[in-house]
Amino acid sequence: MSDRRQFLKAAGLMTAAAAFWHPRDLFAANAAKKSKVATNKLDLQWENFMGKMKYTFTISGSSRTTTPIVISRITWNGYAGYGEAAMPPYLGETQASAHEFLKKVAENVLPKFDNPFRIEDIMLEVDKLTTNNTAAKAAVDIALHDLVGNIMGQPWWKIWGFNPDDCPNTSYTIGYDASDDMVNEKIEEASWTKVIKVKLGMTEKEDKRMINLIRAKTDTVICIDANQGWRDKHYALDMINWLAERNVNMIEQPMHKLMVDETAWLTERSPLPIIADEACQRLTDIPKLKGVYHGINIKLMKCTGMREAREMVSLANALHMKIMVGCMTETSVAISAAAQIAPKVEWADLDGNYLIANDCFDGMKLVDGRITLEDKPGLGLTKKPGIISL
Ligand code: MG
Repeated sequence: MSDRRQFLKAAGLMTAAAAFWHPRDLFAANAAKKSKVATNKLDLQWENFMGKMKYTFTISGSSRTTTPIVISRITWNGYAGYGEAAMPPYLGETQASAHEFLKKVAENVLPKFDNPFRIEDIMLEVDKLTTNNTAAKAAVDIALHDLVGNIMGQPWWKIWGFNPDDCPNTSYTIGYDASDDMVNEKIEEASWTKVIKVKLGMTEKEDKRMINLIRAKTDTVICIDANQGWRDKHYALDMINWLAERNVNMIEQPMHKLMVDETAWLTERSPLPIIADEACQRLTDIPKLKGVYHGINIKLMKCTGMREAREMVSLANALHMKIMVGCMTETSVAISAAAQIAPKVEWADLDGNYLIANDCFDGMKLVDGRITLEDKPGLGLTKKPGIISL
């Protein structure tokens, strides 16, 4: 057989094989992120994951020991990117609602695009599907970013032009516990952290008890999250003045998000920066928060992911508002995604992956309590064996 005939025969076999090919086969056969087999199809898959918390998690209003998560993956041309929807129950999304939403994305949005570089247009279409589902939207956005970063062979902090040396320390939450012994144990376990986060907003007695227990053991700076728990502006100001004398550096969401005038009053008088969390969900919320809060807390699960988070950084800068990046209880997928904007924030609260016992990925690492961004493609993720099947 001539070389030419041999070539044509081989090419014919390849075409026949390609007709039965599916991106999943590629990943079964090829653990590497690149293959010579090409497809322009953006393929979205997802899988439930139940995050097991190291401690019972209590904030003003609820307690729990697990957190529902959906891990997503988008494949294209032999490359893959991972994403995540983390859905604490009080925010209204569930694994079932995420499945329903991701199915719509897979069937109605992704087939319109032949490459993942169109993140802007893809996410505009994803966002238009429903009003809410912000965590499920983030699962798509984060997977697209990881995918594109993997294709480019570059991390997102670098693509965005940020300096990894500018990353702040992360805070680490010492959760409420009715037992002094249990709180003391948590304080000792958190001895590595440079910033302790405490959730207040219970009774004055309990709030002060938590702070006093910590201060009896350490002078480490504390940041406070009242989770909308303080009902009265005068009480809130008294508490903030008391906290300001105890090496506290900022207060997150002191009062209910709808108490706009009261919060503006408090912000004008507070000796510590007042940061919007529950009041700040999306990019469009920011302008109306100017003058009410000193700054905003950006969380990927609220703002639909990295694309909008990056825009929020720019808008907050333009409005001279302070910036914090926060998280839910999340795996290293979403934490590593959020960490990409860490060089541009004053405070980071990215301890979600340290609060779960069964993290399914390795990603952003804390070194000496500080967020450390490595020079690895995409989000810098490595899947741990045997935890998820995606
Ligand atoms: Mg908060």
